[in-house]
Amino acid sequence: MGNHPFRAFFSGFAAAVLTVALIVLCTWIFLTASGWCFPIRETAGEAGAANPSSEPSSSISLLTSKTSNTNINREETSVSSAFGINERNLVLVGPSNKLPDWYKPKLISAFGIQMDSDVVEPYTKMHAAAAKDGISLWISSAYRSDELQEKLFRQEVRQFSKSSADSSAAEACAEKAVARPGYSEHATGLALDLNGVKSDFDQTAAFRWLDRHAAEYGFILRYPKSKQAITKIEYEPWHYRFVGQKNAATIKKSDLCLEEYLTVRQKGSSSD
Ligand SMILES: [Zn+2]
Repeated sequence: MGNHPFRAFFSGFAAAVLTVALIVLCTWIFLTASGWCFPIRETAGEAGAANPSSEPSSSISLLTSKTSNTNINREETSVSSAFGINERNLVLVGPSNKLPDWYKPKLISAFGIQMDSDVVEPYTKMHAAAAKDGISLWISSAYRSDELQEKLFRQEVRQFSKSSADSSAAEACAEKAVARPGYSEHATGLALDLNGVKSDFDQTAAFRWLDRHAAEYGFILRYPKSKQAITKIEYEPWHYRFVGQKNAATIKKSDLCLEEYLTVRQKGSSSD
């Protein structure tokens, strides 16, 4: 008789545990079925940021790709062709915009890394101006070939395969973190990942300096926090894109992202 309250307590406790377990199991089944991905952060990507040198990095970090984090479907309208703007500095490449045929990167090796030749002089000037202000800038990733992008993508797929039985699900998840070959802005040679891939880069003096001065040299912060819904790419404080001084000045002044700027430009040209 004396055990009764305890027995009641324990059976109540067991029922609660079972209920919680059931809820967890159901949530798990639901998330798996709806294509939810494990939020694997690219901590390994920080390897590229481990370069303590104030000078530009001489090697491409294989794991610094943070090109996309998006649910966008590639079957959506190809925006770049829709814009009809063939100005090479404004080429739009992203999860739903394959590198267009008309764009060919003019590759050149500078700062020990391959990039588009249009970027060399502006970056050299920006690097020197920053250094004058006591700011060290270095490039951790610039141009990435299809082969390298493929390698990064496959690495990411392997990560997701550990938590997904279905290989196409693993690929879909991987694509949210690393672009497929041909869909990365790094294929243009016009994108630079600066000072490593660090999510807290925006807490540094270098970031604040870039915020004030990057546009003067033709660079924009390509994936701002406030534009994630439009760029469909997660905030990347380290990723800068060369668009030319004039374009960068307007984009910065108007607080637009590249997609918005292209829309404005297209409307402007079609009403001419
Ligand atoms: Zn990047």
